[in-house]
Amino acid sequence: MAINYLKGVGQISTRISNLDPFFEKYVHQHEHTMYIIVEKELSHHYKVVYANTLATKYFEGVNVVKASHFFKQFWPYIEREIHLLQTSSRRMCKLHTYINGNQQIFDLTIQKSEGITNEDTYVLELSEIENLTVAHESFIDLQQKYETIVDQSMDTILDITRDGHILKVNPAIRSVFGYEVKKVVGYKINDFIRQEYQRLLEDLIARVFMGELPDIVEIEFLHNEQLYLPVHVKILPIYEKGKIVQTQFIIRDLSKYYEYNEKFLFLSYRDQLTGLLNKKALAKYFIENRLMFLQEKKKFSIIHIGLDRFRLMNDAIGYSGADEILKKISKRLQDCCPSDYKLYRNGGDEFIIVVTNYSKKETERVAQLVLGEFEKSLLFNGQDYFLSASIGISIYPDDAHSLEKLLRKSEQAMFYVKENGRSNYRFYSDEMKSFVSNEMLLESHLRRALELKELAVYYQPQINLETGHITSFEALLRWNNRKFGLVSPGHFIRIAEDSGLIHSIGEWVLEQVCRQLKRWQDEGLSHISIAVNISPKQFKMAGFAKMIEAKIDKYSIHPSSLEVEITESSLTNMKETLHTLKELKQIGVMISVDDFGTGYSSLSYLKQYPIDIIKIDQSFVKDIEVDKKNEAIAKTIIHLAHNLGMDVIAEGVERERQAQILLNANCRKAQGFLYSKALPIEEIEEKYLSK
Ligand code: C2E
Ligand code: CA
Ligand code: CA
Repeated sequence: MAINYLKGVGQISTRISNLDPFFEKYVHQHEHTMYIIVEKELSHHYKVVYANTLATKYFEGVNVVKASHFFKQFWPYIEREIHLLQTSSRRMCKLHTYINGNQQIFDLTIQKSEGITNEDTYVLELSEIENLTVAHESFIDLQQKYETIVDQSMDTILDITRDGHILKVNPAIRSVFGYEVKKVVGYKINDFIRQEYQRLLEDLIARVFMGELPDIVEIEFLHNEQLYLPVHVKILPIYEKGKIVQTQFIIRDLSKYYEYNEKFLFLSYRDQLTGLLNKKALAKYFIENRLMFLQEKKKFSIIHIGLDRFRLMNDAIGYSGADEILKKISKRLQDCCPSDYKLYRNGGDEFIIVVTNYSKKETERVAQLVLGEFEKSLLFNGQDYFLSASIGISIYPDDAHSLEKLLRKSEQAMFYVKENGRSNYRFYSDEMKSFVSNEMLLESHLRRALELKELAVYYQPQINLETGHITSFEALLRWNNRKFGLVSPGHFIRIAEDSGLIHSIGEWVLEQVCRQLKRWQDEGLSHISIAVNISPKQFKMAGFAKMIEAKIDKYSIHPSSLEVEITESSLTNMKETLHTLKELKQIGVMISVDDFGTGYSSLSYLKQYPIDIIKIDQSFVKDIEVDKKNEAIAKTIIHLAHNLGMDVIAEGVERERQAQILLNANCRKAQGFLYSKALPIEEIEEKYLSK
C-alpha cells in the first residue's frame, strides 16, 4: 500500500512527492476520509507520522507530532480503540465525541500496518457520518436535550400563538409566579400582564412573526398572589418547516434582582423616613405566610390607619415639618401596639397594623388604642398640634384571600370613616363597596362639571345683628351632578383640591361673583359685597393677586366689594403670605380668615397680617348658649379681633339665643340657618334686594 512509503519520515508528513499519483489522489487528497498514521514510541506515547490534507485541516495539526496534541479531545477514545485492537489486526467502530457541545460521530477503522518492522504503527481512517438514521437519532437527542433544558430552566418559558394564547409552559411558572401549569395553558398571555404593557407585547409578537428579533423588554407579570412582579421578556420565533408558527416567551423574574439592588441601597423593606417596614415588606410577609395561614386556618386583621386632613398639616408647617410629625406618629404607633403586631407605613399619611389570630373584639381594642394616641398633642417647633386618624379594618380570609383585595377593602372602610365624621374605626362591610368607587367616579364627573354647566354659585346672607340689615353675602358653590345629584362642597372641594381642578373651578367662581357685583353696581347697589372662599392651593399659586386684579379690572367693580375668604392654613410661610396679602390690600379687596380657631395657628400671627375680618367657626357657635367654654372662646376671639381693629362674623347661627349672646359680646355680624341658608341668585334678589 502506498502509505507504506511514508514510514520513517520522522515528522508528520503533509506533503509528499508526486511520485505516486494514485496515493496523491486516493489518500492524500481524499475528500471524505481522513488518513492518519500513528506510531508508538519507546516512551509508550504515540506520535503522528502522517496525516492527509483533510485530517490536518480538521484537527488543525499541520506540525503537531504528539498524537494526544494532534487529536486533542478525540485522543482518549482513539487510544482506547487502539488498545482494543490487540487480537485482531483491524478494528471498525463508531467514534462519538462532543465538540463545542455538538455531538459528532465518525466511522473509525484502525489497522496495524503490515510488512513493516515496527509493529506499533497504526493506520487510522476516519470519516464523519451523515446518514439519516444518525441524523434522526441526534435530532431526538437534541429534542430531549432541549426539553430538559426547558424543564430545568429557572426562567419561565411559554409557547404562545400569534393571537396570544398560551400553548405550553415549563414548570418554572410554579416556583416563580405560583401557578400550576394547567392553570396557565389555554389562557391568554395578556391575562398575566399589567394592562399598560399589553399593547407593547402584541406589537412585539407581530414583529416576531414578521421575522424581527426584538430586544428584551421590561414589563410586569402577575403573580398568583395578585401582585405584579417586574420581569424581562425575550420573544423568539418558533419555526416549523422554515415558517414561523408560534413564538416563545422567555421570562426572567427581576424582583430578586431588584430586592438585591435595593438591599444594597438599604431601601429594601424599610420606609426611609420612619424606618418602619414598608408596603413591600407587607407583601413579602403575606406571600411567605399565606400557606401557613391557610393550613393552620389562621385569621389576621389589616388595621388601616389614615391621618385625617394631613394635607392641611403639610400646608401649615411645610413638608419637612410634616415629615417630623409623621416620624413622631410612627414612634407612638410602635409604642402603643401589642407586642405581636406588625406595623407598616403604607406610604403618605397611612399606616397599617397587622395582627394575627385576634378576635374581632381584640382587633377593636387595638384600633381604640391607636385612636387614643391621637388624643394627645404633637409638639413641633414649640407648638402643640392635634391630628386625628380614621381606621378601616379588613379580615383575612373573611373579606378576601389576596392581599391586594384586603388592602382595598380596609381602605374603603377607612374612607367610609373619613366621610362619616372621621376619628373612628369601622370593619369593612359590603355596603361600603359602592362608596369608594364613587369617589373616583366623582372626580371624573367633576372634571366635566364646568363644561356641562352643573356648577352654580349660591349666596348666604350675612346679617347685621344690630340693625338686621343685609349688605353682604358669602358665595357658596353648589354642584348638581346628573348621576349623583347634589354633592356637598365639603366632599367635592377636597376632590377638586386633590386633583388640581380647584384652580379652574375657583377661577370660575370668582368670575361669577365679579359679574354679579358688576350687575348690582350697575343697578345702584354699590354698597353690597360678596365673600368668596379661596382654597389654600389657589391662594398659594404664584400670581394669585394678579388674577384677582385682572378680574376686578375686567368688570370694573369696586375692589372693596370683593372679599377673599382664606383659611388659617393659607397663612403659613410668613414671607410669601405677607407678600400676597399686601398685594391684595394694595388692590383694595377685603380679606377675611375663615373657620377661625380650627387651624394650627394662634391669634398672635394676626397682628402681622393685614386682615379685615375674622369668621368665628361654627363649632364655637354651636351650643354657645349651654356650653360655657364655647362662649368663652367666642367672646375672647371677638374681643381680641376688635382690639386688633378687625371685624367679626359668627358662622352657623341657628338659634335666636345664640344671636343674642353674640350680640351681647359685641359681635356685629352673623350668618346661619336662623336667617337663611345659601340660595340661588334669583331668590336672593327677590328676598333681599327687591325694592
Ligand atoms: P365654609 O366656608 O365654612 O362655609 C360655611 C358652611 O356652613 C356652608 O356649607 C354653609 O352652607 C354652612 N352653613 C351656613 N349656615 C349654617 C348653619 O346655621 N348651620 C350649619 N350647620 N351650617 C351652616 P357648604 O356650602 O356645604 O360649604 C362647605 C364648605 O365648602 C365651605 O365651608 C367652604 O370651605 C367650602 N366651599 C364652599 N364653596 C366654596 C368655593 O367656592 N370655593 C372653595 N374653595 N371652597 C368652598
Ligand atoms: Ca367660608
Ligand atoms: Ca367657615
